[in-house]
Amino acid sequence: MADLASQKPKAMQPLALLRRIKWFNFTMLITIPILAFLCTPRVPLLRPTLIWSLIYYMITMLSITAGYHRLWSHRTYTAPPLLQVLLALFGAGAIQGSIKFWARNHRAHHRYTDTPLDPYNIKQGFFHAHILWTILHQPPLTTPLTPQSQNPKSTSPT
Ligand SMILES: [Zn+2]
Repeated sequence: MADLASQKPKAMQPLALLRRIKWFNFTMLITIPILAFLCTPRVPLLRPTLIWSLIYYMITMLSITAGYHRLWSHRTYTAPPLLQVLLALFGAGAIQGSIKFWARNHRAHHRYTDTPLDPYNIKQGFFHAHILWTILHQPPLTTPLTPQSQNPKSTSPT
């Protein structure tokens, strides 16, 4: 049986690409930046808004790093229930999908680094690795992805 990770990527036909699109994610990733681009020049920047934006950014990114990444994807530590709730709530504020979605894709990334099963496969291009993968359904995996299912070539859980 051939290893799925060694399969060659198929040429992406336009209709096949349309079927893979997650329309909610597509709408959110296109609509919000367009609205921000159109509205930001029309609204004066207030100091409280700037401060809140910076605090919100730091809290949500910390929750992604400490929660979605280290706690739920890699299981590098355990956390009391209250901390888990806070990390989940603020992580959701980053609008990077559910914990399950994030951990599944991150574990697949470590397990299948730079193969067609890597959701952020850089060999499919910079745009795919950073944005496009978030709006496409991922190919199904045949093996369960546990925190220990890292690619043996990888030296550290990053
Ligand atoms: Zn990682």
